[in-house]
Amino acid sequence: MARYTGPVCRLCRREGMKLFLKGDRCFKPSCAIEKRGTQPPGQHGTTARRKVLAGYGQQLREKQKVKRIYFVLEKQFRNYFEKASRQKGVTGENLLILLERRLDNVVYRAGFSTSRRQARQLVNHGHVLVNGRKVDIPSFQVKVGDVVSIKEQSTKNPHIVAAWETASGRGRPQWLAVNGDQMSITVTALPKREDIDGNINEQLIVELYSK
Ligand code: SF4
Repeated sequence: MARYTGPVCRLCRREGMKLFLKGDRCFKPSCAIEKRGTQPPGQHGTTARRKVLAGYGQQLREKQKVKRIYFVLEKQFRNYFEKASRQKGVTGENLLILLERRLDNVVYRAGFSTSRRQARQLVNHGHVLVNGRKVDIPSFQVKVGDVVSIKEQSTKNPHIVAAWETASGRGRPQWLAVNGDQMSITVTALPKREDIDGNINEQLIVELYSK
């Protein structure tokens, strides 16, 4: 399956904003956006002006941005949209909630990893348990009451320990509760729109796919 394997900071510069794709570095001065600002990448990046987008261009960029944030390919993203449009409520919000409920996103939000990319690796490599059973499908949708944890042998993994400690300092979303002093969280509610990063205009994606 084709997947972007190039430098991820370039994607942030392409979208003109931080997409938080690189873990801890995203919070440090060495972040490419902090260092170089939001000029577009490429040979003429420092001199090129960002085009003011409107209509289709703006809708397309918003879709690309959200796909990149969640590391989802076009076909899968489209499937999420179709599922969201069949659900009750506001399609754009439903779309974001479906993406938030992905297991790899929950692993990231819980603080078992410092990026969604790393979270996906943890899931793919079988480090993650849901209700005590290994689940190695990153797109698995969590539901209320699910307990997500790291398998016993992996709880000493220094990357996971460091990410967990960082997240404990930064805080976690309200819909995820840490279970005592264990490296484990419970999904106490489904995420709401206000729990999701605000810098997304999901209505533009709905307009794009509704043409
Ligand atoms: Fe984006 Fe993170 Fe790279 Fe900064 S460090 S440009 S937020 S991926």
